[in-house]
Amino acid sequence: MEKNNTKEIVSKYNFKFTKSLGQNFLIDSQVLMDIVDGAEVNKNDFIIEIGPGVGTLTKELLKVSKKVTAIELDSDLVPILKEELKEYENFSIINKDALKVDFDEVIGKEESVKLVANLPYYVTTPIIAKLLNEHYKFKSLTIMIQKEVGERIAAEPNTKEYGALSLLVQYYCDIKVIRKVSPASFIPRPKVDSIVIRLDRLDTPKVKVEDEKLFFKIIRASFNMRRKTLWNALKSLGINKDLLEKALEEAGIDPKRRGETLSINEFGKLSDCIGKLA
Ligand code: SAM
Repeated sequence: MEKNNTKEIVSKYNFKFTKSLGQNFLIDSQVLMDIVDGAEVNKNDFIIEIGPGVGTLTKELLKVSKKVTAIELDSDLVPILKEELKEYENFSIINKDALKVDFDEVIGKEESVKLVANLPYYVTTPIIAKLLNEHYKFKSLTIMIQKEVGERIAAEPNTKEYGALSLLVQYYCDIKVIRKVSPASFIPRPKVDSIVIRLDRLDTPKVKVEDEKLFFKIIRASFNMRRKTLWNALKSLGINKDLLEKALEEAGIDPKRRGETLSINEFGKLSDCIGKLA
């Protein structure tokens, strides 16, 4: 690994950071190395990176993978990336909002696809939701995110961090913590601590449910009104009262419980019972 030269590139091009784009660039070589090692990239892997910035992480990924396609929203960064990474023929860039990208098109016929990113924190949750819900062919997502979001992702029932995001990620993936990262590893320094995690896509989701859409709709409703009982939260979905009562009974779930006490298996059971009776 070369010495990290993020600061030099930023000043060479007189690049101006845009705070609203979540631009905090990595300046810590050890963290870079830990992300690349943690992602377990090899020469067969096609890497998609979201938000390459000035290409610091991109360059390390290019050295160890088959190719890297980076998706960057800030058009000011495109000429910088092209110049700084011009020696790498296996690099390409898409100047677009990651939320608007059809990843099936980017992936094409590639088989071993991994996503690696120091994500812009203002869109972390919608990006994760898109990458998982749209069933793209990623083997793993190695992402740097805000520490609190990492805690929500890994949370267990009966904790205040547990919610729809925990269930979404735990339904599709195994979660591995790679390392914590302090604000001093970035320019400019973010106000929050960060964490690098790897989400390994499961071959089959954690629980078997008949109707995924209904399963996630029930989960969202249960956490939209966190303080309410399951009974009240689910009534808001417009489910018939008799049906709801029967479904809860069949699933063996007390209607007075709150959503945050239910395990992923219980949500699965409840969703199947509601689906069957509807
Ligand atoms: N990878 C670089 C690094 O580690 O130094 C930069 C990471 S920085 C936290 C996030 C990057 O995402 C920035 O380059 C920013 O311009 C870009 N970005 C912000 N919003 C985006 C979006 N919706 N789609 C794609 N890229 C985005």
